[in-house]
Amino acid sequence: MNETIESRINRLHGDGLVDMHFDLPLDLYEKRNHPGALVSHYLPEFEAGDIGTIGAALYVEDRYLPEMGLRVALDQVARLYAEVESTDRFAICKTKEEIARARKEKKIALIITMEGVEPLGDDLNLLRVFYQLGLRMVGLTHARRNPAGAGGIFSANGSPRDGLTAFGRDIVQECERLGIVIDLAHINPKGFEEIVDLTKKPLIVSHTNARKFYDIERNISDEQIKMIGQRGGVVGANAILVSPNPNDSTIDRYVDHIEHIIGLIGIDAVGIGFDFCEYLFEQLPESVRKELAAKLTTPHFIPDLTNHSHARNLTRKLIERGFSDADIEKILRGNWMRIFDEML
Ligand SMILES: [Zn+2]
Repeated sequence: MNETIESRINRLHGDGLVDMHFDLPLDLYEKRNHPGALVSHYLPEFEAGDIGTIGAALYVEDRYLPEMGLRVALDQVARLYAEVESTDRFAICKTKEEIARARKEKKIALIITMEGVEPLGDDLNLLRVFYQLGLRMVGLTHARRNPAGAGGIFSANGSPRDGLTAFGRDIVQECERLGIVIDLAHINPKGFEEIVDLTKKPLIVSHTNARKFYDIERNISDEQIKMIGQRGGVVGANAILVSPNPNDSTIDRYVDHIEHIIGLIGIDAVGIGFDFCEYLFEQLPESVRKELAAKLTTPHFIPDLTNHSHARNLTRKLIERGFSDADIEKILRGNWMRIFDEML
C-alpha cells in the first residue's frame, strides 16, 4: 500500500472525531448579544479537524455563583439550542440513535454535559429538568467545593479529605437511574472512590491526565485509571495539563498520556477530551488570569494543539508513534461511541 500520511489521516478522520469536553455553551452565552458564533467561529475549526461529536459542557463561572447559577446554565442551554437552530450543520443529541442519524446526515452531534452541579443548587428535581433538556453526562464538581462534593486541586495534595455529601450521593444514584453518564473529571480522590462504590454502570473521565506525568489531584492516579478500566469506562486525554513544564507541553507528551493509560487498562479505554480553552483564557482580563493562576494553575497550552482545527496534528503524531489504524480509530472515535451505545 502506497498511501501518503495525509490521505491516511483523511481516511482515519472519515467518520469524525469525538471530543468529550468543550466549554462551548459558556462562550455562546457570553456572546449572547452577538449570535452566530457557532457557525462563524467554531464551525470552520470543527470542519478543519473533522470533528464529528462534541461534549458541550455547561459550566458556570465563580462570578455568577451562587444566585445566578441556575439561570446562567439555563441560558447556556437556550443559546446552544438557538445557535443550533440557525444552521443545518449541528444536532443536539440525546440518544445513540440521534447521534447515528446526525453523523449520517453529516451534522456535528452535540451532547450536553455538565461540569459541576452548581446549577442544581440543592434541588435534585432540577436534574430531571436538565435531563429533559438533553443533559446526558454529569461531573459533580469543578475544582471548587459545592453542595455535592469537592474537586481535586491543582497541586499534589491538599484537597478536602471528605467525599460526597448526601446530596452528591443522591445525584449519583439519580444519574444512574435516569441514564446520565457519570463523569469523574475534577472530583477529589475520596469522592472518586465513593462514586466507584456507589455505581454499577461504566464510569468515564471526560477530560483529565495521568498524575504520572503531572502530579496534581486534578489529574488521576494509576489506581484511579485502573478503577475506570475495571468498570469498562473511558478516560479522555486532556490537552492542557500534560506537564507542569511548558517546554514539555507537547503533542508527544500528550501521546505519552494516551500510551500510559493504554498500558494500564488497554486500547479500548482511552479517548479524547481536549478541553481546548486558550480562546477563553485569552479573553480574560489580565487581573482575572492572575487570580486564576494563583487559585488553580497557569495552563500550558500545546502550541500545535490549541483548537479543533489542529486535530490532524494529533493523528499525524499517533501515526508517527506507530499506532495501527484500528487503534487510532478507537482513540479518536470508537471508544466514546461504545460508551454512547451502552449508555444512551
Ligand atoms: Zn474541566
